[in-house]
Amino acid sequence: MQEKKVAKSDLTRRGFFGRAALTIAGGAALMVAGTRNAAAKVSKMSAKYKSAPQKGKSCKGCKRFDGTDKCSTVAGKISPNGYCRYYSRKSAYRGSRSY
Ligand code: SF4
Repeated sequence: MQEKKVAKSDLTRRGFFGRAALTIAGGAALMVAGTRNAAAKVSKMSAKYKSAPQKGKSCKGCKRFDGTDKCSTVAGKISPNGYCRYYSRKSAYRGSRSY
């Protein structure tokens, strides 16, 4: 009788640790998926990217532009003179002051 209680208790402990392991594994999988989503970029077509400025706005004035030929939001090679719907003006203080 007592042997049966120990076995049941052991199963419960195993179940607890099993669920804990699954929870940890699930959390790790979500973290990896979140990282991949963060790294994913929008296509030029989805962003309605154009290789010409629009109304004085261009990639070189956008905070998402890396200064060379890449954008943190839009995939592919980006022109400093390009423009897309995700344009976000750089802060007025960034790069406009010379000390
Ligand atoms: S305007 Fe669009 S493509 Fe250009 S840097 Fe900004 S977000 Fe990227």
